[in-house]
Formats: sequence, C-alpha cells, structure tokens
Amino acid sequence: MTVNLLGLTREELTEFFVSLGEKPFRAKQVMKWIHQLGVDDFTQMTDVTKLLREKLTDLAKVAVPKLLSEQISTDGTKKWLLELTPGNAIETVFIPEDDRGTLCVSSQVGCALACTFCSTGRQGFNRNLTTAEIIGQIWWAYKALGKNPKGERVISNVVLMGMGEPLLNYDAVINTLSILLDDHAYGLSRRRVTLSTSGVIPALKRLQEQMPVALAVSLHAPNDSLRDVLVPINQKYPLHQLMEACRSYVSAGPRDFITFEYVMLKNVNDSDQHAKELIELVKDIPCKFNLIPFNPFPGSGYETSSSERIHQFKSQLVEQGYIVTIRKTRGDDIDAACGQLAGKVIDKSRRHEKFIEIQQ
Ligand code: SAH
Ligand code: SF4
Repeated sequence: MTVNLLGLTREELTEFFVSLGEKPFRAKQVMKWIHQLGVDDFTQMTDVTKLLREKLTDLAKVAVPKLLSEQISTDGTKKWLLELTPGNAIETVFIPEDDRGTLCVSSQVGCALACTFCSTGRQGFNRNLTTAEIIGQIWWAYKALGKNPKGERVISNVVLMGMGEPLLNYDAVINTLSILLDDHAYGLSRRRVTLSTSGVIPALKRLQEQMPVALAVSLHAPNDSLRDVLVPINQKYPLHQLMEACRSYVSAGPRDFITFEYVMLKNVNDSDQHAKELIELVKDIPCKFNLIPFNPFPGSGYETSSSERIHQFKSQLVEQGYIVTIRKTRGDDIDAACGQLAGKVIDKSRRHEKFIEIQQ
C-alpha cells in the first residue's frame, strides 16, 4: 500500500524518510512542495534526487480529494465541493474580508452531538475525516487562491467551523493543526487558527496542553436548562465545568480572550433576561461575543431573531464593555452560511437512502 504524504506531520514525514534510509531534511523539502507550492506529483519536485523521486512514485502518493465544483458568491465568498470517496463529499468555504481572508473547514462528515438548531447535527454522524482529508480542503483553497498582489497568501486565517465537532476527531485535528502551524507547510500563527467547539471538556483540556490555538466556544444559552436542549452535550459537561475550562484555556491560549458564539433564535434564547444571565455567566472570563443570526433550514422548528432584537441583545452586552460582532450572512446565494455547509450533500445521500427504502 502506498502512503499518502498529504496528511503527515513533519515528525511523521521525517520518520518516513528515515525508514527509507534518507536524510531527515527531505521531510522539509517535500512538505514545501506539497503544501506551499501545491505540487502533488513527485516528478516535479526538482530538488529531490531522481532516484528518490522514483522511489517515492513507487511507495507514496499525494492523494488530494477530487474537486467536484467551485462556486463563487456575488459577495466574493467561494465554496468548493470536494469528493472524499465516491458518493461522499464535503464543502469548504472561503470568506474574504477587508483585513483578512478566512477559510472554514470541516472535520467530520455529519456530527454526533445533535444540536437542535444545526442541520449537520440533525443529520447524524457519518464519519471522521482523516488528517489528509482535512488538509486536502486547505490544500485546494490555497492552490486556488494563491497570493495577492503584495505577495501575501490570500488565506490569512483558518477556522475549524465547518461540519463536525473537531474535538471528537482529536488525533486527526491535532495533526492538522501541526501541519497548519508548521513553517515548512502553511506557517500560520496559533492566533490565526481558530477551533470552534460545543464544549467537549476533556479534549479541550488536552488541546490546551498540546496545541493551544485560538478558541471559539458555541455557547448559545446562558443556563443549563436551555443549553441542555439546544446543545445536548451540555447534559454531560454542564456550564460551570465549561466556564472553568474556558477560564483555564485563556491562561494558556495564544489570545487573551475566548470567543463565545451565540446563535440568535427567536423567542428561545434572545430576550433581555437571557442577555442578563449571559453577562452573569461569563463575568470572570475574558471574552468576546459573536452573535450568529440563525440560518433556517427546512423542518428546523426555529426562526431567526429579528434584526432589532439582535441589536438590542448586542447593546446589552456592549453596555457591559464587551466586544460583540454580529456575523454577517455571507455567501447566501451559494448556501455557504454557518450550519448549512454540506448539509445539502448529506441531504442528498439521505434522500438517496430514502429513495432506496421506498423502492424496496
Ligand atoms: N461543532 C463545532 C464547530 C462546527 S459548527 C461547534 O459546534 O462549535 C460552527 C458554528 O455554527 C457553531 O457555533 C454552531 O453552533 C453554528 N451553527 C450551527 N448551525 C447553525 C445554524 N443553523 N445557524 C447559525 N449557526 C449555526
Ligand atoms: Fe455538531 Fe457543532 Fe452542529 Fe452541534 S453545532 S451538531 S457540535 S456541528
């Protein structure tokens, strides 16, 4: 079996070359070709000896997911549909902003955590992505977007905020982070890589020790009774534990704050009273808030809070000195918004399953 070098960390790649009787520095050379120059063909790696190139062609591969389609929104948001295995596809989204370009990647196909307002969660868990499959999303986007006229990479930030719960695919995600931060690969700083989690506390503690990157926590409710319903993992790891874990993370993380994500659900979690409770809950945690207007999907049973309500909610937090952003809905025309990512793809497979059931 040939080894896929796309998903190997520098340590793993070094081990691989040493096992071939090669010098360890080959790992850095090959990483550069793959991740910085977007080359997936060993014969093009010209500073590698011809003999080694031939050896690599026999023993290894750089297997990237197949690009099925690229869509560009009128607001500049781009979305790529990538095939993992036949019939199994994921989406990656690039969001350009004035001062940065953010790539949003997925870590799982589906999600087991079943948050009630999330279309990925409603569809259940399919499988974990491998490191190569997560890196493959970044590889394609880097290749497609390249550098700006100033010679800087168009992608300045990566967020693990697509489909899936990254902390439930821990090993693959840690290796992905290691490649993202590696100077011989993507060379991003820890501050420019954000992991978003619904609060899988033991894994969050491991992340804090092993590879603390910027953190976003999907809070969505200011008390346990509501969060137990919206984010069911809360039943296992309730808010007081989550707040404690966040406090501890800030002390180790690359940023001196945590971002709390809060989806705005009409008449569910968006009242003045909820805002007050929220302020009380986070009072000793350095944090910012990102209010996300709910992205509706068929049969969700939820509605988006009105714009006035969202602004009122924001004002209450701002009055207490918090920095609050309201997430702009981007890429509407290509379904690239939060919680909608790849929903369609899974939907299709489900519909297909249903279709088979009906036929049987
Ligand atoms: N599993 C991780 C990361 C992926 S979800 C997490 O939950 O944090 C990325 C963000 O999108 C989370 O904050 C999630 O709560 C939010 N989200 C999910 N469905 C949404 C929807 N329908 N509308 C708006 N935001 C949604
Ligand atoms: Fe999973 Fe995040 Fe969706 Fe919850 S919001 S179901 S954790 S992807």
